[in-house]
Amino acid sequence: MEHIAGLNPEGNENRNRIFHCIRQNKIISRPAIARELELSLPTVTTYLQELEDNGMIYKNGSLGNTGGRRAAGYSVVRDKYIAAGIDLTETYLMVTLVDLNGDVLRSEKKECVFSNDAAYWNGAKDFVDSVLEQCGRPDTVVLGIGIAVQAIVTQDHSGIFYVKTMDIDNLTSEMLEDYFQYPCLLFNDANAAGYGEIFRRPEADNLFYIGLSDNVGGSILIDNKPFGGQLSKSGEIGHITVHPEGKQCYCGQRGCLDAYCSASVLKRTLNVSIDGFFAGLAEGNEQYQEYWEEYMDMLAIAVADIRNLCDCEIVLGGYIGSRMETYLPEIRKRAAARNPFEDNADYLTTCIVKEEALSYGSALYLVHQFWEKI
Ligand SMILES: [Zn+2]
Repeated sequence: MEHIAGLNPEGNENRNRIFHCIRQNKIISRPAIARELELSLPTVTTYLQELEDNGMIYKNGSLGNTGGRRAAGYSVVRDKYIAAGIDLTETYLMVTLVDLNGDVLRSEKKECVFSNDAAYWNGAKDFVDSVLEQCGRPDTVVLGIGIAVQAIVTQDHSGIFYVKTMDIDNLTSEMLEDYFQYPCLLFNDANAAGYGEIFRRPEADNLFYIGLSDNVGGSILIDNKPFGGQLSKSGEIGHITVHPEGKQCYCGQRGCLDAYCSASVLKRTLNVSIDGFFAGLAEGNEQYQEYWEEYMDMLAIAVADIRNLCDCEIVLGGYIGSRMETYLPEIRKRAAARNPFEDNADYLTTCIVKEEALSYGSALYLVHQFWEKI
């Protein structure tokens, strides 16, 4: 594996354990690290010095009072090494910066109509640079940019395998690197969001993420990583059939989940924004209620099917999923009614990461790649 300039290629394992020990504890002293990892004090001292010299950790005040001597506490430097994530959509760009702890450093959104040309990409670069400038320090190292797209991407994150909703067939990481001047990786939108979500749920190792946004997508996460399948298109829950003779889907089939549960279909059918829809629903708008009944029924079918197939926690995400808290008990009830093995659907929850889910997950992947090399 390629190693980080400045770090000794030898001794990677203990250095890595010490880094993660500091990260997980937020602040910890040298003797406490030695105790927790069962390492000698001189070994810990050597690696602390190396990590500190490379700007990954710093002395963050002093800790404890054990018989007079106070020990220095160590914490991770948040903004020396950061990654950026982009949520690329038809109508806006969202940029999220993630620090070396894996936390959001900054998130900004800009309304701009997508067009796959130089003017658009140069504008996107200026936007990313402006966000980086606002929180960067002169010596910040940008690990790269993860770009979440509404498409199935190749397994090596370098190109587009299948796309139907945006004009991005020709998008490659190489082309994006020419514009952004940083290493770039492409991510499927639901995979990126699921990846970020499972990181924020330390108690879960496996998860199914349903992305309910302009399109319906999904991601299967096994052992905290997206399960790709043969062609990186696993988890495509938007195009499972929930109604054999049902509504026409943009993919050409009938009765797909997407035709019932996507935000774009909802907005087009009812001629309303998503905020307007939920406001109207809460006020008892009958047309919205009728639409929502069918929406919840179809979603419950998909949820029950996923539970039977995967037997893992299921998260409702995307910008509809993140507004669903109020309706969760009802969807759980309908999903449970379709499950012969369980009498409740407490395995179903709404997402923890809300608006910046896609950009956050894309950037987080690059931070995790870097963690492995420390
Ligand atoms: Zn479809």
